[in-house]
Amino acid sequence: MKRDDCVALDRSDPFKAHRGRFEIPEGMIYLDGNSLGVLPKGVAERVAETVAKEWGQSLITSWNAHGWFKMPLAVGDKIAALVGAPKSSVVAGDTISVNLFKLLAAALKMRPKRRVILSDTGNFPSDLYVAQGLRDLLGNGYQLRTVAPEDVAGAIDESVAVAMITEVDYRTARRHDMKALTALAHAKGAPIIWDLAHSAGALAIDLDGANADFAVGCTYKYLNGGPGAPAFLYVRPDLQDKALPGLTGWWGHARPFDFDPMLELAPGIVRMQCGTQPMLSMAALDAALDVWADVGMREVTKKAHALCSLFIELAEARCGKFGVKAAGPRNMAERGSHVSLHCPEGYAVMQALIANKVIGDFRAPDMIRFGFTPLYTSFADVWDAADVLARILETQSWNRPEFLARKAVT
Ligand SMILES: *Cc1c(COP(=O)(O)O)cnc(C)c1O
Repeated sequence: MKRDDCVALDRSDPFKAHRGRFEIPEGMIYLDGNSLGVLPKGVAERVAETVAKEWGQSLITSWNAHGWFKMPLAVGDKIAALVGAPKSSVVAGDTISVNLFKLLAAALKMRPKRRVILSDTGNFPSDLYVAQGLRDLLGNGYQLRTVAPEDVAGAIDESVAVAMITEVDYRTARRHDMKALTALAHAKGAPIIWDLAHSAGALAIDLDGANADFAVGCTYKYLNGGPGAPAFLYVRPDLQDKALPGLTGWWGHARPFDFDPMLELAPGIVRMQCGTQPMLSMAALDAALDVWADVGMREVTKKAHALCSLFIELAEARCGKFGVKAAGPRNMAERGSHVSLHCPEGYAVMQALIANKVIGDFRAPDMIRFGFTPLYTSFADVWDAADVLARILETQSWNRPEFLARKAVT
């Protein structure tokens, strides 16, 4: 594929108008929207207004007058529309790690005779850390069992109290089959928690159609909610009034302003809330979600996969001789929206890419990772990124002390 062909693809891109709705720094090819999405236009103004008018002038009355108290639910409904969930089944707030704790605890309570939390070795470490912390807190024979991602289906048996599965692997982009695995888990009597960190906003997801029990996801990645933006949590409607969250606070109480010393969980998704949420971040997220109003998620998936396959093709054709090889499946139906390349000296190569304004990241042990965000990544971006990578490898310009020295965040 030539660069001109990529420019032609951009001309017929259904999202070509969306790119203008984001702040993308001049001259930068940003391929890290799977780690921190770019700033959507309008968000800065909304946050400034929330600070100056709502906090500054309306003060405490804003909890009612400006809808602060219900905003996690309103934002949750916007997210629900993007992940195939019905209204009132998603709430925004806390972090993925915290929300996983709540849901793992709820799921374990639903299967009191079982002791196994099942996950896979490709899962994001924080998810596994939360499970280990809860296991140690509970004692009593609870265990975390991790198997290779391709062995998950075979490992679901009647000892499994809950399966905790991340749909798209943060390194390899391997995608689990949500519908099939959920059905398998249910056949063995186990609920399943899906982590959508690398799928929400990148792929069409159908929580309802898959009959998923629980889910969590991130909003600072493909949903562009900003650094540390509130995460989200989904509970299938028929489970909501039975689910006992492991973290119970006043925001999950049926009548928080009765200040009753006795806990009485609210009905519905509300009970999954714990304490006061960060309203400046919530306002930023609420405004950031507006760009999705007229977006079809099937088109998003289609473009995501077109970008990924183009990048794999170009990177391997031009850089294969330097030992570069794409990780993960070749079949796009089994992938998310990012590509990791195994690359010798990958850390230094990524630092050289960043110095050349191609922004991706590095994931140990040897992967350089590129996220393709369908609303604002162009086909020409993909071509240019592969071109810069090839030139860095050809000239060995990565081989400099400042690129070889490791920073704290990779
Ligand atoms: C990014 C990511 C997280 C982040 O968790 P936080 O608690 O929100 O920081 C968790 N799980 C997966 C799979 C991720 O990719």
